[in-house]
Amino acid sequence: MMGRFFGGVHPDYNKDLSRGKPIETMPVPGRLVVYLSQNLGAPSKAVVKKGDAVLKGQVIAESGGFVSTPVHAPVSGVVAAIDTFPHPVGTDLPAIVIEPDGNDRWADGCDVERDVDALSSAEIRDLVHDGGLVGMGGATFPTHVKLSPPPEKPIDVLVLNGAECEPYLSADHRMMVEHAEEILDGAALFARVIEVGRVIVGIEKNKPDAIAAMRERAAGREGFEVAALDVVYPQGAEKQLIFAVTGRRVPAGGLPMDVGVLVQNVATCRAAREAVRFNRPLIERVLTVTGRAIAEPKNLLVRVGTPFEDIVAFCGGMSGETGKIISGGPMMGVSQYSLAAAVTKGTSGIVLLRRDEVAQFVSDACIRCGRCVEACPMRLDPSTLSILVERMRFDDAGETGVNDCMECGCCAYVCPSRRPLVQHFRRAKAELRAKARKAG
Ligand code: SF4
Ligand code: SF4
Repeated sequence: MMGRFFGGVHPDYNKDLSRGKPIETMPVPGRLVVYLSQNLGAPSKAVVKKGDAVLKGQVIAESGGFVSTPVHAPVSGVVAAIDTFPHPVGTDLPAIVIEPDGNDRWADGCDVERDVDALSSAEIRDLVHDGGLVGMGGATFPTHVKLSPPPEKPIDVLVLNGAECEPYLSADHRMMVEHAEEILDGAALFARVIEVGRVIVGIEKNKPDAIAAMRERAAGREGFEVAALDVVYPQGAEKQLIFAVTGRRVPAGGLPMDVGVLVQNVATCRAAREAVRFNRPLIERVLTVTGRAIAEPKNLLVRVGTPFEDIVAFCGGMSGETGKIISGGPMMGVSQYSLAAAVTKGTSGIVLLRRDEVAQFVSDACIRCGRCVEACPMRLDPSTLSILVERMRFDDAGETGVNDCMECGCCAYVCPSRRPLVQHFRRAKAELRAKARKAG
């Protein structure tokens, strides 16, 4: 059953800048900055030290807990430093810096095909963990955790997220056009782990070539189908996607497993195939470099740890006056103050906007127009919530549902007063988290 979720917006998608560009492989840069924080949850713990020689695919940081993943050397070379560096989330975080040796040599055992038919569900799940897999749509939640639902939450549908509803981005789109079979091969591995017979790929209708490619490949697989979805932001948000393709509503504060669904991004599926079938851990990803302030927009396959400044240079540098650099898409991405950060497993794109494209408005008082209420896919009242935050009434904001906010930005997009609504809600959630931690 197909559903249309409440709210949402129709921003200018600007995908024409890059969607027709085939994925290009970027050469290995002269220095890679590999953060220990590559996943939602506990950061990984370094197991190498300055001066160590490393091989491609070697574990350089082990999981920091169950909700964590190992990190692997994206290239063979030498550990030049372990220090803090600007991270795309906007703060300085620890990272292992590797200087390549030019050989790009795999560690023993990597890049070797396995007989996946002989693997049990538990073995596949362990290999997903060992491969360092996280949600590559940007959420970076460790994939092996998602594949471990409690017995009282049986899953009967696997949903592949190919919506890519964020404006400008086209990495998943190109991945589906160029690597449909590999995505479905990885999805079949996930389906085996959670023992589901039904797999639905959700793709927005503005990617007809991706829909065609995935349908062609899905046709030969029993239980697989492709759903063409309305083009509306945030169609790719987990709860909205689940409703769109299954008609099931995830309750407020609930998880997809509460309605028997597991969602995986299409790029994560392909990464699973690489890790499980070929023992190639997650050391590279496809991202979109785009916007009118970059000379040559591209979809690029880059190593994790590639500095943004190398990527921008590979794309011909900036063109014109850059007003804003965003890691991720313009709706949910994080503004960068420089190009000092490097690619993580969750970096879906780098968007460079010209100065004249960036809204320069000063925010104003709420005029109670109600547009944010109509746009909020979570049926929240962003206007009231933002006023509570301004008055530092964080507990009241919590009771009014601020923790259900997924920071999609729809409310801010439609607000005529240009109120910093998402920043308000992030602040309220951080205050509530800090209070909960303090309370033990
Ligand atoms: S950012 Fe939060 S409050 Fe605003 S529309 Fe999205 S879910 Fe609703
Ligand atoms: S859209 Fe902006 S001005 Fe209108 S009610 Fe919401 S917060 Fe207030």
